[in-house]
Amino acid sequence: MANQPASNAKALLESNQKYAERFNQGNLPIPPARKVAVVTCMDARLDPLAFLDAKLGDIHVIRNAGGRVSEDVIRSLVISEQLLGTEEIIVIHHTDCGMLTFKNEDLYARIDDTLGEKAGQEARKYDFLPFADLEESVRQDIETLRQSPLIPENIRIYGGIYDVHTGKVEVIE
Ligand SMILES: [Zn+2]
Repeated sequence: MANQPASNAKALLESNQKYAERFNQGNLPIPPARKVAVVTCMDARLDPLAFLDAKLGDIHVIRNAGGRVSEDVIRSLVISEQLLGTEEIIVIHHTDCGMLTFKNEDLYARIDDTLGEKAGQEARKYDFLPFADLEESVRQDIETLRQSPLIPENIRIYGGIYDVHTGKVEVIE
């Protein structure tokens, strides 16, 4: 195994030992203390707990590519609200998002090239939910939530755009 390239994933997993040694928050309740669910992007530059000044146990953070309100995000929100007591949702997209850089057709063509025709056909079953305008994508996702019978009207919904250069969230009214 000496010739195997170093694995960052393995190094990260090994680093957990140090975290666990100083970990002292093992008794938090399951429901998030601040009753808020945040939907945001998986982008490595975003640290939602930090930029919202929230602590471990405070909020649900549901992340995917773009922070889009997909079916699976609604699945998580229903569980968050119905079973774990959250009452408000914040949808946060961000500047310089990778989702602004391609269209579905580009990704389908790339998959044809890299993974072959069969994978390309499979990929075409997906809308990867890229977008061209940040404010519009936030508004669209808020609208999707408002239209869903699974998200009742008493759930307050907010939107924002996080700026990766300044750390500031611009609230979308
Ligand atoms: Zn992003």
